[in-house]
Amino acid sequence: MSAEAEKIKCLIIGSGPAGYTAAIYAARAGMKPVMYMGLQPGGQLTITTEVDNYPGFPNGIKGPELMSDFYKQAHRFETDIRYGYVTAVDFTGPKHKVVVDETHTIMADAVIIATGASAKWLGLESEQRLNGFGVSACAVCDGFFYKGQDVAIVGGGDTAAEEATYLAKLCKKVYMLVRKDKLRASKAMQDRVKNTANIEMLLNHETIEIKGDKGVDGVLVKNSLTGETKTLSVTGFFVAIGHNPNTEVFKNWLELDEVGYIKNKPGSSKTNIEGVFVAGDAADKVYRQAVTAAGMGCMAALDAERYLAEKGIH
Ligand code: NDP
Repeated sequence: MSAEAEKIKCLIIGSGPAGYTAAIYAARAGMKPVMYMGLQPGGQLTITTEVDNYPGFPNGIKGPELMSDFYKQAHRFETDIRYGYVTAVDFTGPKHKVVVDETHTIMADAVIIATGASAKWLGLESEQRLNGFGVSACAVCDGFFYKGQDVAIVGGGDTAAEEATYLAKLCKKVYMLVRKDKLRASKAMQDRVKNTANIEMLLNHETIEIKGDKGVDGVLVKNSLTGETKTLSVTGFFVAIGHNPNTEVFKNWLELDEVGYIKNKPGSSKTNIEGVFVAGDAADKVYRQAVTAAGMGCMAALDAERYLAEKGIH
């Protein structure tokens, strides 16, 4: 152990809804949490516009404003909130070693991982430019804004299939753009898509460009078999081509699934390492909502509190 290692009781890695909720609970329980915010302070909600499905805000709230409120609440209970990115860990135990920005070493009794996941994007300039202005990676979050309108969604997995059927309930028409000649989604989900009258599936289609200036007004697509291009008239463009959980740094220590999501013990936030807990999208590929992440953050703080009490760490 390096001489200058900082010793703390509770370390929280990540600053989305899961991390901040864990911080609020841990701080109020007297665990003196230290939080590192990571590369994207505030997490995925900071790149969305309106959030209309987080309970408690009857008129909705902007994503960045919601995360600023999370920050203020965690700060009010004296969470030590810091800039920094975790670059290495050693979970040999019983104290957990975490290195921040390759320079600062922390030894923590309990660690809560809330590093989230990042949506995969197509990589188009127009997609980046119109992100939050008609382009979204979350139909459940943003679909409502396109009620009665025509939209497109790209992807052929379970997420795209589920989100296409979700959008079909709200929108007039949903184009589903699939790059291959078949979907990857489960048969049950494929059947749901095929049985939804207002979803038009375009197999073997790739997205060339999303059109629009201050919002989306169309999408240029190409049939990869014939080379034919056409513009679909849509006002919303949803990307559902998968997520990357931000868990790379933990892979030699924690049990991950084949994609990289951290495995938690069912019904708890416990990982395979005693004293290391996980919350939010780093462990959740199914729900991925701010409110579910916040709920898991609460669970992680309560589990960490019990763990410290059991070990007699006060
Ligand atoms: P997947 O990786 O399963 O699917 C991604 C889809 O996006 C594939 O159809 C892929 O095409 C397509 N794709 C990837 N990159 C591009 C690109 N650049 N351009 C166009 N298309 C692209 O991701 P999901 O998010 O759908 O699912 C992740 C996991 O979560 C899966 O295991 C899934 O089963 C699970 N899940 C379960 C749910 C449930 O149980 N209710 C709900 C949602 C997800 P291609 O096939 O050509 O590679």
